[in-house]
Amino acid sequence: MAAGSSLAGLRHTEGMDADVVVIGAGALGLSTALHAALAGRSVTIIERDTAGSQASGRAAGLFKSVQADELRTRLARRSIARARSFEDWAGVPLAVASPGSYLIARTSAHKQFLGIEHRQSRSWGVDVHEAPVPALSYYHGDGSERALWCPEDIYIEEPADLVRAYVAAAERHGVRLLEHEAATDITLSGGRVTGVETTSRTIAAPVVVDAAGAWVRQVAELAGGRVAVAPVRHQLLITEQSADVDPADPIIRVVDAAVYLRPARRGLMVGGFEAAPLAVDPGDEHASFRTEDLELDLAVLRKLAAPLAAEVPLAADAPVAEHRGGLFTMTPDGRFIAGPLPDLPGLWVASGCNGSGFSSSLGIGEALAAWICSAPDRLDISPLSPGRFGALTDDALIADGRWQYAHYYDPGADGQS
Ligand SMILES: Cc1cc2nc3c(=O)[nH]c(=O)nc-3n(C[C@H](O)[C@H](O)[C@H](O)COP(=O)(O)OP(=O)(O)OC[C@H]3O[C@@H](n4cnc5c(N)ncnc54)[C@H](O)[C@@H]3O)c2cc1C
Repeated sequence: MAAGSSLAGLRHTEGMDADVVVIGAGALGLSTALHAALAGRSVTIIERDTAGSQASGRAAGLFKSVQADELRTRLARRSIARARSFEDWAGVPLAVASPGSYLIARTSAHKQFLGIEHRQSRSWGVDVHEAPVPALSYYHGDGSERALWCPEDIYIEEPADLVRAYVAAAERHGVRLLEHEAATDITLSGGRVTGVETTSRTIAAPVVVDAAGAWVRQVAELAGGRVAVAPVRHQLLITEQSADVDPADPIIRVVDAAVYLRPARRGLMVGGFEAAPLAVDPGDEHASFRTEDLELDLAVLRKLAAPLAAEVPLAADAPVAEHRGGLFTMTPDGRFIAGPLPDLPGLWVASGCNGSGFSSSLGIGEALAAWICSAPDRLDISPLSPGRFGALTDDALIADGRWQYAHYYDPGADGQS
């Protein structure tokens, strides 16, 4: 990291309007802002629309303890612990459902892969066991599947609940949230960041965090920076209420079908990862493009659920109460992007959600704010630094991002990752 780009030892930076300006009030920006405020920094968040109005407000709300590498595992488990204890450290209540989850494989290749995940995750401290899937309300296996029981896994019923809790906690700790105000420029002097121009004002600050979700590239480009993300569409549905769903039942993830399921609003939530997902660069869209302009396609979810018709009849054809979708920010290696941008002291990034940015926001925001504030004993997330990719063509970035999306549940299953 370039000298002088963190806030070591500083409280309120002299001559500045804020110590930290965060661009984007999604889960990642809100968590980073809250944690920087908890570390005593003055923080302003600039949000073009309203907090949680884009990807974060549309998430399935799932937290997953089994991850592909040790750092992501630590971040995921830390996030689960911080969600469960949110009121203790943030001072605001947050309802969390803790039913655990089953990871299920039905093909021999995926059964083998689950064996690898089991061994790895246990070595990284995850509480995960091989176990037959018991009789459940909405999932009826035939006993031939291989399953891992993941008792640590949780979900938040409505994603807006976490957004609201972040906003309330952040404001309680002095964060200024400016909604309906877009960042239009990142100002520089002598090559380092000096603040942000918005549609209404100039804000001087030594640290700016780009947490603009699917727009993270466009925001970094305001300062001449480059962030290697490829936005990719993701969708889910919630069925009408059904007597066939026990709201207390666990989460199910069927890895060979790339489908997740959980009770939701007394119906069933069904989401999944198509093999050839739609990449959408907001930079190629009209300037007012928002998530609600993204074209959704229910047929994608129906096709993903079809191979599960025997096990989960509801997923295949139950009437749909809600169908929603948004953009993941995929990276070439499937890992988050969190850290300082190279050669632009003062500009930091919180992005590259790869479909886990809602849940891991608790751990990422904490670790990134600690890094910005040079806190001792912080979790080292430098392997997630934005500079790690070097030069990449857009075509390669999109191809790699789509591959990571398609292999959300089985990265490395064919030796590519
Ligand atoms: C259907 C769906 C289901 C999902 N399920 C899960 C799940 O179960 N678990 C999980 O962990 N993750 C899930 N995700 C992924 C998760 O939603 C994202 O990883 C996460 O919300 C990303 O948060 P963010 O803060 O990066 O982005 P966002 O929530 O999109 O926030 C970015 C914000 O930046 C603002 N912004 C952009 N440009 C500017 C500008 N110039 N000035 C000011 N503000 C600006 C935007 O308005 C937006 O509010 C899901 C996503 C989708 C779409």
